[in-house]
Order: sequence, then C-alpha cells, then structure tokens
Amino acid sequence: MSHFNPESIKAVLLDLDGTVYRGSEACPDAVESIHEFIGRGFAIRYLTNNSAARPEQITQKLLNLGIPCEPSWVLSSGMTAAQFLKDSLHQTYSYIGEVGLGESLAESELSEVPLGEPADAVVVGICRSFDYEKLRLASNSIRGGAQFIATNLDPTYPFEGGALIPGAGSIVAAVATASGVNPLVVGKPQPQMVLQACSSLGIAPGQAIVVGDRLDTDIACGVAAGATTWLVLTGVTDEVPPGQLGSKTLQELISWLD
Ligand SMILES: [Mg+2]
Repeated sequence: MSHFNPESIKAVLLDLDGTVYRGSEACPDAVESIHEFIGRGFAIRYLTNNSAARPEQITQKLLNLGIPCEPSWVLSSGMTAAQFLKDSLHQTYSYIGEVGLGESLAESELSEVPLGEPADAVVVGICRSFDYEKLRLASNSIRGGAQFIATNLDPTYPFEGGALIPGAGSIVAAVATASGVNPLVVGKPQPQMVLQACSSLGIAPGQAIVVGDRLDTDIACGVAAGATTWLVLTGVTDEVPPGQLGSKTLQELISWLD
C-alpha cells in the first residue's frame, strides 16, 4: 500500500507471540531488529491479547531473551479492559480470569465485587480454573444488567510443542451463550489497544506501525485504528497477501522504515 509514508512513523507497536517470541525463544531476527528500531529513534510498545500478562513479567521475559523492554512499554488486553472501566461511568465490576487480569483491573480504581453479586460490569478473560459455577454466576450478573466485557475472542492459543489450547474466546462464547448477550471486546482486533498505546505516546495512530503475525487480530486491529500495518511470517501466517505490507522477519521492516 504505497500511500503509507515511512517518514511519518514514530512508533513500532509489536505483537508478542509469533512476532517477538515463540514460547521461550526469540523469533528469528527479533533481538537485533528491536535494538535497531530503538537505535533509530522509534518508540516501542508491546501489545498482547493475553489478559493475564503483567508488564513486569513480560519485561523480565524479554530482557532474558536480550530484547529491550520497560514495564511501561507493555499493554495487555487486561490493562485495556481496566482503562475501559476507568473511562466508563461504572463503579463496580467482577471478573472471570487469572491473577494477572485481577491485578490489571484493580488499577481501574473501581470496586471489585465477588462474581455473582450485582455489578456494573463483568470482565471475562482467559481462566484456566473456569467451571460451571463461574459460568452460572457471570451469566446471572450479565442477565441482571452488568455490561459484558471480553478481553479478547481468540478461540485458542499456541502452546509448547505446537499444541493449541483453549483461549479466552472459548470461555467468552460459553458466557455469551448462557447469558444471551454478546460482549464488548477490548482486545485485538478492536482498535482500543493501538489507540491507547498511541495516546500514551502522544502520537496519532497514523504515526504508528502495528506489527504482528495474525491478519485477523494484529493487522485488523491496526487497520481499525488507522495505523500502518506490517505482517511478519514468524508466527501463524505463511504468506503476505497482496496489498499487505510485510516480510519474513522483522529485519526487512528496518529497510522499509529507512
Ligand atoms: Mg501473535
């Protein structure tokens, strides 16, 4: 898409899984390329749909791989949900999710109430202890008027050894079916994460390039936000479709930005 102008780009917004690392290993060329982006003056942000991820933990993982990161560079769908609650008129929330989502939502400064008690919002993310009782309580609250917020709709996510395991979307689907209500989604492919990252950087979405390995989440999210997008083939996608900017690894993005 030739109308995109590399000279306007100020920030590189990177997906993590399949773009920066795969499991416990850095993706090919990722370490050198991210150092190079920073050396050339680009701001870096890491955007992950994993609602359980916490900035300190992601930062430590990246630093261990030799990849530069600071906690303020990390944005998860859980943190985006917290910002959504903060910006809403809600006062109380409950959630289905892991410890990391709970910590992120606590930063909204709204009051958490136990699942099943009247709440203004119910946030649903990945939860490996999800069960029938949580499903019952969450769908009761939502049917009782709580706003249903989903961190993301990813049906599965890649696990070690190439396995696919159920993602937040599988749990969200159960709650949507039981409550008869469709959620408001804050994670990718919705534009909120990119808009939040740009706003915290003080730049317009048109000054950011969103980089990821999935067309249906990363690229769709960047497009929805009005950013330039770049597909890498280090994750789940095998080829760059016509009209889409992209390359085998992050390395080629450096030359495009030059
Ligand atoms: Mg990915």
